[in-house]
Amino acid sequence: MLKKNLLSAIVLSALIGFTSCDQQNSTETVNDSNGNSVVENTEDSLVTDVMNKDTQSTLTPDEALQDLLNGNERYLSGDMINRDLHAQVVSTAEGQFPKAVVLACIDSRVPVEYIFDQGVGDIFVARVAGNVEDEALLGSMEYGLAVAGSKVLMVMGHQNCGAVKSAVNQVDVGSDNVTSLLNEIEPAIAKTEGERNAKDKNYMESVVKNNVTETIENIRERSPLISNMEKEGQIKIVGAYYSVEDGKVQLLEE
Ligand SMILES: [Zn+2]
Repeated sequence: MLKKNLLSAIVLSALIGFTSCDQQNSTETVNDSNGNSVVENTEDSLVTDVMNKDTQSTLTPDEALQDLLNGNERYLSGDMINRDLHAQVVSTAEGQFPKAVVLACIDSRVPVEYIFDQGVGDIFVARVAGNVEDEALLGSMEYGLAVAGSKVLMVMGHQNCGAVKSAVNQVDVGSDNVTSLLNEIEPAIAKTEGERNAKDKNYMESVVKNNVTETIENIRERSPLISNMEKEGQIKIVGAYYSVEDGKVQLLEE
């Protein structure tokens, strides 16, 4: 009887030992160069690194843009970075140093962080139907660029955009909120050559691209802060078009 209990105790402690050992092996808390404690994953396959003040300040606007494009290549090939998101949450808790600000549509098929294969703390994402700008969004973008130090401002429209389609069709749902939002897309429609026809794929692609260009022009005009940062080469402003068919991001020529 005593022997049996002893054996059980040995087996039990061995099991507890294995369990706690296992837990210790998956993550451990270490001090970084600034003396802050960060959680590191000890499994080689999981990436725990996050953007910090140094990596952000040494990054040029061109490098930040290339980083996004490289991320889209990984997204397309299915070879995305395997991140320890929990470790990244812990590491970014005290501050953020994102590399870019992306203004995109709310469309559920446009998950910006996935599209550019970015982790926690990597990019600011502003989303509104039809990726148009208003005062609150301008303030948000100014914060991301001038205060938080991001190097790229990307405005990204997308294929089969419901907001752009609704604007072309002059949809009226009986709400001033929707009407005023769709009116923001009118200038892009006015710029687009051809018959106003939401069934014409080429026409719709042109409206979406013109809408991106229009938003960028408005940002430059309405935000002297962002415009000056661009002129001084501190940031880069780019337009992009996202295909919901294949997941590819195409940069728009100015
Ligand atoms: Zn959309």
